[in-house]
Amino acid sequence: MNIPFLDLKSQYAQIKNDVLPEINWVLDNTAYVMGKPVFQFEKDFAAVHNINHVIGTSAGTAGNHIALWALGIGPDDEVIIPANTFIATAWGATLCGAKPVFVDCHPDSYNIDSAKVEAAITSKTKAIVAVHLYGQSADMDALQQIAKKHNLFLVEDAAQAHLAEYKGKLVGGLADASSFSFYPGKNLGAYGEAGAVATNNDELAERMKMIRDHGAKDKYYHLIYGHNYRMEAIQGAVLGVKLKYLSQWTNGRRQVAAKYNDLLKDIPQIKLPVEMSYAKHVYHLFVIQVLNKKRDELQNFLKENGISTGLHYPVPLHLQPCFSNLGYKKGDFPVSEELTLQGLSLPMYPELKEEQQEYIALKIKEFFKNH
Ligand SMILES: *Cc1c(COP(=O)(O)O)cnc(C)c1O
Repeated sequence: MNIPFLDLKSQYAQIKNDVLPEINWVLDNTAYVMGKPVFQFEKDFAAVHNINHVIGTSAGTAGNHIALWALGIGPDDEVIIPANTFIATAWGATLCGAKPVFVDCHPDSYNIDSAKVEAAITSKTKAIVAVHLYGQSADMDALQQIAKKHNLFLVEDAAQAHLAEYKGKLVGGLADASSFSFYPGKNLGAYGEAGAVATNNDELAERMKMIRDHGAKDKYYHLIYGHNYRMEAIQGAVLGVKLKYLSQWTNGRRQVAAKYNDLLKDIPQIKLPVEMSYAKHVYHLFVIQVLNKKRDELQNFLKENGISTGLHYPVPLHLQPCFSNLGYKKGDFPVSEELTLQGLSLPMYPELKEEQQEYIALKIKEFFKNH
């Protein structure tokens, strides 16, 4: 049996007839950048996600940048970021000229460990970026308390966490600003690059909109510095269609996760994902930890049996060569480092069939009989 890590083909087959007329509408109208499909999607996503302002962007990375830029983060500032995340979280800070300061992750949630944040705060710290990694919300109340006490901005990187909840509230509106990614493989994915930045603050939203579009409110009148971070109309059109399925697909992911948890529950060599009591996890990724140092061997064994898996992420940010100038070393963030050596992402998408999951579980159990 061949099981891909991600299967966007079966999703496309499911929605092709809905999506093609919307793409055609854009082509017929020759309005390729922003325009009606994007503005409508912004409104719809804001309503679904219960946030006042959603601003479509060219990518999630652009959202990471715009959020901190609009908050006034700049050179000499420090921004606290989890060591275990995708690199784009840190680009938000570096593109503003600020310095990323890393903090280790929690051993169960894999999100920034709120108990370790205060030790990283200095007189230069201006913001904390919480990532809802793998689809599970960070501990927002604890982070909000720290942010308030030290007068810092709190920003959510919700790139992997569409419709995820924290204590019954949807992520994305729980801090000063947030960003989303609609990269094709994300829980809500475009047919190319796309993202968004969001906030409940009217004034901040105005600044974000201007930054996205060359610092202008009216074309050719540039009030502030900006960039071209606009969303393409075709992406807005596709996302508008797919948004209608998001809740159903999210439930599908949670069902796949529940099935994995059941199938894999009695294997002492692995640790399953922990859904924290405050979280509704949306399982962008289903990351198990292989506790007996055989992660790479298991990955190879599964590959030989037609099962593709992933590593998220193979190197924590503080050990990435691009950040060697920041002076971190191996051993600084042991939980994140261990996760990079032990974590293995299993195939996870709502279309994954029960028999496919059963085959994956069978092969994992077969491997551990001999390891
Ligand atoms: C995907 C991702 C991003 C960046 O989004 P793009 O749309 O790929 O630019 C940022 N942060 C995290 C945590 C992500 O997973």
